[in-house]
Formats: sequence, structure tokens, C-alpha cells
Amino acid sequence: MIQFDDVVKKFGDHVVLSDLSFTVKPGEFVTLIGPSGSGKTTILRLLMTLETVDGGTIQVGGEYLSHEERDGRLVTADEKHLRRMRKRIGMVFQQFNLFPNMKVLQNITEAPVRALGLSKAEAEQRARELLDMVGLSDKVDAHPMQLSGGQQQRVAIARALAMRPEILLLDEVTSALDPELVAGVLNVLKQIAETTDITFLCVTHEMQFAQDVSDRVMMFDQGRVIEDAAPEKLFTQPEQERTRAFLQAVIDRSA
Ligand code: ADP
Ligand code: MG
Repeated sequence: MIQFDDVVKKFGDHVVLSDLSFTVKPGEFVTLIGPSGSGKTTILRLLMTLETVDGGTIQVGGEYLSHEERDGRLVTADEKHLRRMRKRIGMVFQQFNLFPNMKVLQNITEAPVRALGLSKAEAEQRARELLDMVGLSDKVDAHPMQLSGGQQQRVAIARALAMRPEILLLDEVTSALDPELVAGVLNVLKQIAETTDITFLCVTHEMQFAQDVSDRVMMFDQGRVIEDAAPEKLFTQPEQERTRAFLQAVIDRSA
């Protein structure tokens, strides 16, 4: 469902991704771990077409994300292609970024009406189902400001799902939350992962969560995936010393 082939990404002289290759299969839940500043967010931003590659290719569902084949050659895709590809992918960020001037329901119906062409009634029905799913049926008419951080993040998750993405990208979605609100958000994500066929690529420092929900965990460092294994293997018997040191550092920090 996601395929990176020799992807290079630089900011000026700073090479963030060097010949990065990995795949994520349809329906898989893959967690990406690694030190701060190593390029995890950049990988997700490339998939959202918020950044462009400097080399290599990315494919989503067997189609090039930001390239098109023309006369047997790969060329940069046009805006129409990008718009179509973007609709297949949703993202939830550390900062929830809800529209502060809109009620919860409108936050969720806005994009499906505008970008998918759903009728207002269809979008509202879908939004109510999603709010039910994330445990916020009673907050339909609330404004984001009236919600806790955990509730806002669950609205952000519902908003992403309202676009019916095939892929959901999660970037440290609980990092900005008070500790007591983290579990509620993680439980919602776990439930979505278990009850839908959405493909997940998740960046998190919540190692217990990662171990519970992931099909695969990739340890990422210095622009490359240095270890890629089932969670029970990677968290208990990592092969790389770098992985071991990183996991220990995360445990020490949260202790
Ligand atoms: P992570 O999410 O793993 O913490 P990021 O992908 O955010 O890492 O960043 C990887 C590296 O790229 C960092 O050194 C960061 O400073 C740099 N970087 C990210 N975005 C930009 C940008 N827009 N301009 C310049 N440098 C950037
Ligand atoms: Mg990041």
C-alpha cells in the first residue's frame, strides 16, 4: 500500500533521508520509532505531499504519489494527480489543529462536503457515527475550546476518518496530551485499527501501545530503517545495539 524506493530528502545540504526503502502492506499497522530529528515527520509529510522527494519514488496503492509515467519516462505529476492521491491519505498530528470557530460537527463535515462532494445530510450522518465511534456523541455542538486535549484529538481522528482514507498517518498524536488523557486516545486508535481495513503508519513513543497494535515496527535512524521486525521481537530482542540504546533511553525518560 505504501512503497518507498531509494527516497532521498534533503534540506539544503542536510540529507535527512538517504536512499530510504520500505513497504507497508494493505491493512498493516506499522510503527516507526527513532530519535528526535531523525526524519520521521518528514516521511509522513512526504506522503501527504507537503514535501517533495529529491530522489527515488514513493508509491501508494501501486501508483506513483508525485510522479507520472509519460512516454515511458517518470515525470513530476501535475496538481490534478496530487489532489487525487491526497484524498487516499489522512493524517493526525501532535497538534490537533481543529477549526476553532466551528462546532465539532462542522469540523468533521467541512472537508467531506467540500472535497468529496457529500451532501450536508450525508456528511452529518457520517460525522455522528464517527463521533459515536470515538466516544464523543454528546459533543456534537461543542466548540473545540470547550473540550479537553484528549477530546480534541479524538475529534481530529474522526475528522481524518470522515474522508474515508485508505491510509492513516499518525504523528506522535498523544505527545501534547496530559498523561491521564493519553489512554483514551490510544484506545480509540486501537479500536479503529482492529475494526477497519485502514493501513496505518504511526510515529509514537508509546512503546506499550506500539507493541499492542503494530504488525511491524521499524527502527529508523540517520535516514535509514536499521531494524524492521514484529513488535514482540523488536521490543524484547532487538538485533541492533542502536535500537537497544534507543529503547532504553525512552524507558528512562518515561520512568
Ligand atoms: P523527527 O520527526 O524524526 O523528529 P523531522 O522529520 O521533523 O524529524 O526532521 C528531520 C530533520 O530535518 C531535522 O534535522 C529537522 O531539523 C530537519 N527539517 C525538517 N523540516 C525542515 C524544513 N522544512 N526545513 C529545514 N530543515 C527541516
Ligand atoms: Mg517528528
